[in-house]
Amino acid sequence: MNRWIGWTATLAHGLVIEERARMGMDRACRDARELETGGILIGHYSADLSIAIVQEATLPPSDSRRGRSWFSRGVADLRETLRRRWQSADRTYYLGEWHYHPISQIVPSVEDFTQMANIARAEEYKCSEPLLVIVGGELSERERGLRAFVCPDDSKPMEFVRVDTEKSVRPKSAPRTESGEK
Ligand SMILES: [Zn+2]
Repeated sequence: MNRWIGWTATLAHGLVIEERARMGMDRACRDARELETGGILIGHYSADLSIAIVQEATLPPSDSRRGRSWFSRGVADLRETLRRRWQSADRTYYLGEWHYHPISQIVPSVEDFTQMANIARAEEYKCSEPLLVIVGGELSERERGLRAFVCPDDSKPMEFVRVDTEKSVRPKSAPRTESGEK
């Protein structure tokens, strides 16, 4: 499983999901079977703040609640987890949310975006442009569907389009915006 790299159509926002975070989500989805699951995304921004680098996707906090088509992320131990990451040598922090839609067609719900707008404005997250990553059912043995958005507090959510860049994270030109690209 490689890292997932995407850019918004305007190239204003880049996203890198490191392999370790992708594997963490994959494992959690496998364990959740037909129920939704999710957690938070932890990592850091590039020096110029244009690229969010997700290094870790947590498991659901123990007080999370979930069903077949809904997930309410809890908060148990989250503050402590984030404090430890902030104080660690490589200092990482909250970047956003991820959750699992146990179907192959990934469509974010209205509630998904409402929740992100609330987080973008919330004092306690200190994150005005949180990420939303939705992971879907398996497309193939090696690949699970994934859609990612940045949800700024002052504009509509923007989707990241996956780009194929082996050498550099930054693409030479704007990514194509058709969906369904793998
Ligand atoms: Zn959802």
